[in-house]
Amino acid sequence: MKAGKEMGSASGNYCLSGAEKSLIAKGRLDLIPPYLWERLCDGCAQCCLHKLYDPANGTFYLTMIACRYLDLESCSCTIYSERHQLVKNCLVITPETISQIGWLPDTCAYKLIFNGHGLPPWHPLLNGNRDLVHRKGISIKNYAISPKGIPPSDYSYYIINIMKGNSSASKLIFKDR
Ligand code: SF4
Ligand code: SF4
Repeated sequence: MKAGKEMGSASGNYCLSGAEKSLIAKGRLDLIPPYLWERLCDGCAQCCLHKLYDPANGTFYLTMIACRYLDLESCSCTIYSERHQLVKNCLVITPETISQIGWLPDTCAYKLIFNGHGLPPWHPLLNGNRDLVHRKGISIKNYAISPKGIPPSDYSYYIINIMKGNSSASKLIFKDR
């Protein structure tokens, strides 16, 4: 299965059925059907922040600088259907690649399921409310900034977190946004 992440409002107010909750509780991303895969994304946009990578020690440095295609107000992608054509390093999460993306936030639904955890109570699929991810401070809405006017050589001044990652995921660094 190959699918990207849902960054917009396509999920609407969809809530999981009991059968779907049971499916997710199995902790098997490979069992998630395509119609549900994109809905798992909570819209936090944390994976749309620029990261710097040090291959010497496998460390990722998360910055507060967002992809130039991210709408900072809604935390949605403005080129969603074309994102993989226009941004070659736009993240693609699949059951096969999830284990290589060590820098995903702990709140990411794909990571939670992969690690055998359930969805958090604020997740839109549990309560139908896509604003909670912002009100709870999970999303980048209150701190992310546009890359406009910031040369890549200055990105290190905007580091907000340091994460150990898997060096095989270095191709996922967002160098070209
Ligand atoms: S970090 Fe995970 S939940 Fe958040 S926007 Fe990215 S894919 Fe979606
Ligand atoms: S193109 Fe940019 S804003 Fe859109 S999903 Fe990819 S990283 Fe996020």
